[in-house]
Amino acid sequence: MSFYIYNTLTRSKDELVTIKKDKVGMYTCGPTVYNYAHIGNLRTYIFEDALKKSLEYVGYKVKHVMNVTDVGHLQSDGDEGEDKMALGASREHKTVWEIAKFYEDAFFEDCKKLNVKRPNVVCRATDHINEMIKFIQKLEEKGYTYESNGNVYFEIDKFPGYTKLANLSIDELEAGSRIEIDPNKKNPLDFVLWFTNSKFANQIMQWDSPWGRGFPGWHLECSAMSMKYLGEKIDIHCGGIDHIPVHHTNEIAQSECALGHKWVNYWVHGEFLVLDGGKMSKSSGDFLTVSRLEEEGFNPLDYRYFCLQSKYRKQLVFSFESLKDAQNGYRALKKKIGAIISNIEDGLTINKELIEAYQEKFKAQISDDLNLANAFTVLNEVIKDSALNNKEKAFLIEDFDKVFSLDLMTIEREAIEVDEELVNRLIAERNEARANKNYGRSDEIRAELLAMNIEVLDSKEGTTWRVK
Ligand code: AMP
Ligand code: ZN
Repeated sequence: MSFYIYNTLTRSKDELVTIKKDKVGMYTCGPTVYNYAHIGNLRTYIFEDALKKSLEYVGYKVKHVMNVTDVGHLQSDGDEGEDKMALGASREHKTVWEIAKFYEDAFFEDCKKLNVKRPNVVCRATDHINEMIKFIQKLEEKGYTYESNGNVYFEIDKFPGYTKLANLSIDELEAGSRIEIDPNKKNPLDFVLWFTNSKFANQIMQWDSPWGRGFPGWHLECSAMSMKYLGEKIDIHCGGIDHIPVHHTNEIAQSECALGHKWVNYWVHGEFLVLDGGKMSKSSGDFLTVSRLEEEGFNPLDYRYFCLQSKYRKQLVFSFESLKDAQNGYRALKKKIGAIISNIEDGLTINKELIEAYQEKFKAQISDDLNLANAFTVLNEVIKDSALNNKEKAFLIEDFDKVFSLDLMTIEREAIEVDEELVNRLIAERNEARANKNYGRSDEIRAELLAMNIEVLDSKEGTTWRVK
């Protein structure tokens, strides 16, 4: 079965044809570790995680590489504004290194709570300064750079394909990025590859380079590190849509000029999560984190469920009311599944054909540009299908959860509503049956209770019960 994915480069749903058979090289732009990730950022990581798991589900072996930005990212995504890491350090009276370590750990803690799997390779920018310097040297040798007032710039006019990803004219790109006039630049869209002391002279993160002591521009790390870990051609490169006009456009320019050939085959972008009242922004300081959702009584997986219900290419509006709806939906789903998995009678077998038919149906949906909403419909069909026994249902639910990663096979105690009156009545009836030596009836009641996920415990002190 072919896998189709929307490619920003072609602006169409394209069939995935990988460079190496049955393998996918996937690069996703990672966090800038100067603050907690907000739930908008995390929507993007959840989508990327689901994409990777869908590719694995249909049979690809995926090598997933993600960077951690701990140097060079300025507030504007371009060359304007303050250094984000330095901002974090001064906000918290810590060193940039402490900030980077703290927020990197916090990011992966959040990912763990959201069942976002750690990429195969996680690479920090500050661990790859040599690779970045060599990359600039390559561009320099090929004539794509110039030095001005101490900084090394990439000259975008030397790359004819500069506008292809954003599909905008140079004027439109300029208007969109609202860049300050920088007299050092030949073209306002030129971007810095290496900053020297001329910018943020008191920046602690500095390294020697052929152009002077300084630090790399932000865009460079993704090109240099992805090439190190994935080679000169990449199947899929992901990120949020905000990266299209600046970061990814610049990544393409420097990479294709250094390599002399096409670099990434499929550019896949996730749409934004927005708040009821507009954009979520870290700089305003008022943004929602996973911990905040937990404080409000949500399980992080309620949020994962919320995100997976909507198409990754559509903007998603967040409100606590809609998250509450998702929480109810998720709980109801788990309750139905709980009733299935706690009620698998002994001796049931699995009909391979029935299973495979459903797996194909599921694959068809995830392969259709990650149509997870329809994949949930397939899951619900499985739950309702009277032609499937509970063992088969449980098998398929566990199988689909390789993509959803919603812990569907874990029974939540609170998700099971216990009708205590009924349980106590049955226990009393069973006690009476036992007193009358009617062991057949007593066993029947035990089985009945077990089907309700209630375990009966007999002891000298009497009979008690608990939720299994
Ligand atoms: P950053 O840490 O700012 O570099 O962003 C990390 C990732 O989150 C990037 O892929 C961004 O494109 C993405 N992103 C930023 N804001 C949002 C948002 N509101 N909704 C979805 N993704 C976002
Ligand atoms: Zn990047």
